[in-house]
Amino acid sequence: EARVSKNFLEEIIEKDLADGRHQSILTRFPPEPNGYLHIGHAKSITVNFCLAQKYGGKTNLRFDDTNPVTESVEYVESIKRDVRWLGFEWAEELYASNYFEQLFEFAIKLIRDGLAFVDDSTAEEIAAQKGSLTQPGTHSPYRDRTPEENEDLFRRMRAGEFPDGACTLRAKIDMASPNMHMRDPVLYRIKHAHHHRTGDAWCIYPTYDFAHGQSDAIENITHSICTLEFVQHRPLYEWLIEKLGIYPSRQYEFARLNMTYTIMSKRKLMQLVNEGHVAGWDDPRMPTISGLRRRGYTPAAIREFCARIGVAKRDNLIDVSLLEFCTREDLNKSGLRRMVVFDPVKLVITNWPEGKTEMLESENNPEDPEGGSREVPFSGTLWIERDDFMVDAPRKYFRLSPGKSVRLKSAFIITGEDYDADENGRITEIRCTYHPDSRSGSDTSGIKAKGTLHWVSAEHAVPVEIRNYDRLFREENLAEAEGDFLDHVNPDSLITIPQALAEPGLLDDLDAGNPARPHFQFMRKGYYYEDDDSTPERPVFNQTVGLRDTWAK
Ligand code: ATP
Ligand code: MG
Ligand code: MG
Repeated sequence: EARVSKNFLEEIIEKDLADGRHQSILTRFPPEPNGYLHIGHAKSITVNFCLAQKYGGKTNLRFDDTNPVTESVEYVESIKRDVRWLGFEWAEELYASNYFEQLFEFAIKLIRDGLAFVDDSTAEEIAAQKGSLTQPGTHSPYRDRTPEENEDLFRRMRAGEFPDGACTLRAKIDMASPNMHMRDPVLYRIKHAHHHRTGDAWCIYPTYDFAHGQSDAIENITHSICTLEFVQHRPLYEWLIEKLGIYPSRQYEFARLNMTYTIMSKRKLMQLVNEGHVAGWDDPRMPTISGLRRRGYTPAAIREFCARIGVAKRDNLIDVSLLEFCTREDLNKSGLRRMVVFDPVKLVITNWPEGKTEMLESENNPEDPEGGSREVPFSGTLWIERDDFMVDAPRKYFRLSPGKSVRLKSAFIITGEDYDADENGRITEIRCTYHPDSRSGSDTSGIKAKGTLHWVSAEHAVPVEIRNYDRLFREENLAEAEGDFLDHVNPDSLITIPQALAEPGLLDDLDAGNPARPHFQFMRKGYYYEDDDSTPERPVFNQTVGLRDTWAK
């Protein structure tokens, strides 16, 4: 990667290392296991892991599992699979819930130091006490409880004496602070809920603000990198670290990834799944890592995309075609070329010897000198694309028409003769002659053929299902679009071709379920990847991206 200028995080880290503030760096990726990872998380993952790699440091994977109601082991497992698939290995697998006892002790310290109190106010009362940006808040009537009383109540909260919502633990900071997060923020809530790791051991759970910075400090995270919406949380992050006298992790914020035509909120992605707009979290139209993987995106392409967009300090909107471009670049190098006819029309070669089949050699990938070749059967009756034939063709039409010559890929030059059509004018059969001395690789015919068509032999062709995709949303900038995001779902985002016809060798390449199965370029069609649900009896291929940017128009 030929990036010369450093991003602002690299500058901070280099300064910290030069100043001796740190000997080495430790970052973390802290997902909440309440959904599947999406392309925005890939950005955060690459930022954290690549910074550590670049400076010889390490990265922890820490599950921010402080919200038992929405979290599950299924999500934990999917997150680990996705991070690994992207090509990263964490130093340690950790859970905020590992620290529940330690966090409880931290809370006790704040209480004893007169910096936290148990508040019996309801959620609504607390919201009212908070005031507004233009008005200072008001003190809770419970704010002056003594440390002894607070400690007793907090221990009884833990012991399960109170129902959900009866009271909270709040930090005692400043109800007049211009920063709303400093107005006596809630640190603990009562939730009688089963946790996927700690079971029923706890009925009080720390809030994000109380768990996150403290977990960073416990792990000695040097640079805690998060997205811009946490700028407002930083004073509280620093206040807690200072008052607790724990390791001074520092928080830095960068702009989250926003992408055109794409939703990137787990809550909304879950809504797409639950309401049946897509078939699941790994639907190939989803911007989840598992959806992108199933569709045929590659880790290398996603990492390259993340590198190219860089690390910004201002929110912006990245064009999804950049991700598609990176994918096309990568797949052009690795994709095996195969011939598949999507909308077949019959082509008969009138001078081909009756009943003869010839095996023709065709290279797997002209971009890859080591890619080798395969054999493709050729015969006197072929399928070609319907739109590769035109009766009254304009001068610049370099495909087949009566009297015009084209090359059949890796085979011969043919010249169009005549055709049959049904009563609606729909072509039912095209006839042509071939030139025996025009064989690819040993062409002595001297005939100029401008176009090259893909084809399959009718007798040998195998049916495959093709799933092409259009954008899942019709709106470019969903953050600014009117109405609900669901109003903008494209009802025609899946375009199925139930029976395309493929060269028979494609069956030998089938390997659904193997993450190392090959990617394909179906010639003149696009990049394709076998779907997870594909079987030898019913092969299915997902379009990853088209050959060119067809969206820019
Ligand atoms: P969502 O809004 O989709 O639920 P989240 O931030 O709540 O996302 P987390 O599991 O808490 O999800 O995210 C883990 C990490 O990934 C956090 O550090 C978060 O800042 C980062 N992250 C989430 N979305 C993006 C994004 N679009 N771009 C960059 N980083 C992101
Ligand atoms: Mg979060
Ligand atoms: Mg969230």
